[in-house]
Order: sequence, then C-alpha cells, then structure tokens
Amino acid sequence: MIDRYSRQTLFPGIGQEGQRKLGNSCVAIIGCGALGTIIATSLVRAGVGKVRIVDRDFIEYHNLQRQVLFNEEDIKAELPKAIAAERHLKKVNSSVEIEGVVSDVNYTNIEKLVAGADLILDGLDNMETRFLINDASLKHGIPWIYGGAISSYGMTMNIIPHETPCFRCLQASPISSGIALTCDTAGVISPAPFIIGSLQTTEAMKILVGAEEINRDLIIIDVWRGEFNHFKISHRADCPACRGEYQFLEARSGTRATSLCGQNAVQVLNPETNEISLERLAAHLGPLGEVNYNEFMLRFRVNNHEMVIFPDGRAIVKDTNDESLARGLYAKYIGM
Ligand SMILES: [Zn+2]
Repeated sequence: MIDRYSRQTLFPGIGQEGQRKLGNSCVAIIGCGALGTIIATSLVRAGVGKVRIVDRDFIEYHNLQRQVLFNEEDIKAELPKAIAAERHLKKVNSSVEIEGVVSDVNYTNIEKLVAGADLILDGLDNMETRFLINDASLKHGIPWIYGGAISSYGMTMNIIPHETPCFRCLQASPISSGIALTCDTAGVISPAPFIIGSLQTTEAMKILVGAEEINRDLIIIDVWRGEFNHFKISHRADCPACRGEYQFLEARSGTRATSLCGQNAVQVLNPETNEISLERLAAHLGPLGEVNYNEFMLRFRVNNHEMVIFPDGRAIVKDTNDESLARGLYAKYIGM
C-alpha cells in the first residue's frame, strides 16, 4: 500500500499523514458523467477510503467521447453508469470501498445519499439538483465542490458551509441566470470537463487532508482560448440557504416528470414506489410489447415508444420531450 501511493506521499502537501486522512475519508460523487468519471477515477486511485457514486443514467455512445470510465462493452451490457463505474474502479483499487448507487437525486433522498460523507463532489448536468446539494451541504455541514463544464469552458467553486459564500450566494435560483445552454445545444469538448474535474479533485484532496490553502474563488476556464480566471464571490445578505432556510430540500412536491439534458427523453419519478420487481414487470408487460431486462433495468418497446424502467420505480421514456405523454405512458404500463 505504501508503494501504491509513494509518488503521492512524496508530495509535501499530502505526505504520510495526508495519505492516512485520505484513507479515512468518505466522499459522495453526485453525477457520473464526464466530471464524475474524472473525479471518481482520480480519488479511487488516490486512495480515498470510501467513494459513493450516484447516477441515474445508463451509458450511450455519445458519452464515450468524454466519459473516460466507460467503454463499448458497458453499453452492450446495458449497464447503468454507477454500476459500470463501480466495477471498473474496483479493479483499479480493491482497497477502496466503492458503492455505485443507481438513483435519481431529489429532495426525498439527497440527505440519505450524502449521509456519512466528509465531502460532496458535483458531477451533475443540471442546476436544480445543485441547489438541493447546497441545501443538504449547509444543513449537515458537509463541504461540497461545485463543477460544471459545457462547450469549451467550465467553472468550479468550493462551498464550505458557514464559511465561504454558498451556491445560492452565487446564483439565487435555478432559472435566474438566464443560462439555457446544455450539452444538447452547445456541445462540449473533453478537455473542459477533464480540467474542471481535475481541479475539483485537487480541491477535494486539499479539503480532505486539511490543507489551509484551499481555493475560495469561483474559477472559470476556457480551454479553447486558453483562459483561466479567478473571481471573488461575496456572501449575499438575503441568501435563504445561508440563513438556514433550505427551500429546495424542504420542497413538498417533487418533480414528477422532467426532460433530460441532451437525450430527447423524459424521466418519470414515482416517489410512492420503493422497489419493483423487474421480473414480475417483465411478465406483466411481455404480452403487450417487446421486453428485455437484466437486474438493473427493463427495456419495454410498444407502439413506437421505448421506456426503460429501473428497480426504484423510475422510468425514462425515450424519443420524446413531452412530459405529459411520458407520464401517461407510465400510468398506463407501470401504474402510479
Ligand atoms: Zn448563501
């Protein structure tokens, strides 16, 4: 084990003491796309003791351009990202406790998903969930590292609860920024998330070993232009989250159906469902259309529609952005 980490412990910022602290740490990585795969692979190789990887999606060919942990075999095996990441990384470092969690992140489960973590890392592709992470972070005093990348640029910021400004100090609400760019409309080149993910990993190491010189700015990069900028962010006096009002966490109505970024698909959630048997569902749907399934997901094709259903009752309806159509298909075939 000493050999494995020797190049890292030689670095004075880590040292033997820092390595011990990394080994005793637990991180939760929320979202395992381009950023998440970079962060997960770096932290597992670095010897962080426990790594929880949460993601709701399965892998598609257009992910392989930048999501470094995945390969064509994973797509053929129809593996969810969290499971593929867990399997690959266990082969990289068997001494790390790696837990892949296939789940949507919402107000009903975020606190459970980050429980026990010393640090939360953002690998998300949507704004709404970041506000949830921010609330959970401040409520439970768990630092988190914001990261986002699109086109040729990206940004990152450390949020240390009750110390640095929080994410709502930076941006008041999910819609107020007017930023409507998604991977779907703007595209993304891999160096942008690779660099942001690497900056997030570096800050994670610093926070976990207790380094004093952690970054307190918002960093924005543009890899195409070769630009790297720091911005000072201030506490916002009227920030609800900093005052202890966790409006996203305390939402009493979760989103039932949401269009997914860049996928021409709608996700349908059923918060009332805990666990469904895919085997039983396959028997039920078999006479109605084409069904195939494994232990992680069931794929159902009927009347030019395709749905993927997960054991937690969540479904993704493909080839549509129509949320009411998706809800209707869910109600018809899965039941609400
Ligand atoms: Zn704040």
